[in-house]
Amino acid sequence: MSEKVKVVIIGSGPAGLTAAIYTARADLNPIVIEGEPSSTTDQPGGQLMLTSDIENYPGFVDGIMGPELMSNFRSQAQRFGAKFDTTKASRVDFSEQPFRVWTNNQTGDDPAYIADSVIISTGARSLLLNIDRETELIGHGLSTCATCDGFFFRDQDIAVVGGGDSALEEAGFLTKFAKSVTVIHRRNELRASKIMQDRAFANPKLSFIWDSTVTELHGEKSLEGVTVTNRVTGDNTELPVTGLFVAIGHSPNTDLFKGQIDMDEVGYIITNSGTTTNVPGVFACGDVQDHIYRQAITAAGSGCMAAIDVEKWLKQSES
Ligand code: NDP
Repeated sequence: MSEKVKVVIIGSGPAGLTAAIYTARADLNPIVIEGEPSSTTDQPGGQLMLTSDIENYPGFVDGIMGPELMSNFRSQAQRFGAKFDTTKASRVDFSEQPFRVWTNNQTGDDPAYIADSVIISTGARSLLLNIDRETELIGHGLSTCATCDGFFFRDQDIAVVGGGDSALEEAGFLTKFAKSVTVIHRRNELRASKIMQDRAFANPKLSFIWDSTVTELHGEKSLEGVTVTNRVTGDNTELPVTGLFVAIGHSPNTDLFKGQIDMDEVGYIITNSGTTTNVPGVFACGDVQDHIYRQAITAAGSGCMAAIDVEKWLKQSES
């Protein structure tokens, strides 16, 4: 049988859990569909579950581990009465109010939840190279976020994979810390904008390996080197780097919402005035609607905004 609720939050990264804290404190009794622990890249807690030290989340003078931070967020939401459903949303129907949400662990055809409002906080995922040991080494030399992890690579030789604006931006940022930064790109021409290319070519700490991909990762507990394969000649070269930043793009987790809500051409949910979407009563926060900032603190901030937007919307629709 369906459970009738005021607000369903789909996704449990910093955005979703902050929305849970705020809506719970506003007595809206939120249900958080938090995801399933079965997958390494798509588990409850979101991308921070794959991060080790977080040193730039305000309030933690000595930093905090990603999983510990997310566990604290979750406990804080629980303390105010948020309920968690450890499953994935499998289908939504936003065509009429109240909204209907189905999950993977429900029995029968009825929706698991009938909700007056929905907050979407399903995040985005960094695209990965799909090579052996990649997820295992995330947080141990392999990273998808220079702003988050660059600081740990002071005076080390590191590499960045990718040829777009993200790769060059990350590479430039990393030269502030690293001894050297090598950009490994699969073609002999960058995709990045001209201005980013000019800056990169003028940076003496940056060098490029063209027409190449990273095919193997080496090191026991943390990264000690990579094998780079030239796609034209087939030659393999060993590069003794202790850091590898994969910057080959991101993909928002929005397949579930296709056809239900407005998205941009690459699938990010479009929000206007705060966290409002084109469907009144459905709000989106965090990386699922932000392809620019992508930080835990900005996601948490927008989760707070979504909760306030929901509260206002529910009050207005009751009156
Ligand atoms: P992009 O899609 O622009 O670039 C991805 C890069 O990764 C491409 O060079 C691509 O190669 C390469 N790549 C993709 N898949 C693989 C793979 N499996 N193995 C190896 N290499 C791969 O993504 P970005 O994240 O760089 O940028 C996304 C958007 O954000 C863009 O519109 C960009 O302009 C914008 N942006 C703007 C910034 C700024 O203005 N300061 C900063 C960062 C992003 P190939 O070129 O061969 O396809």
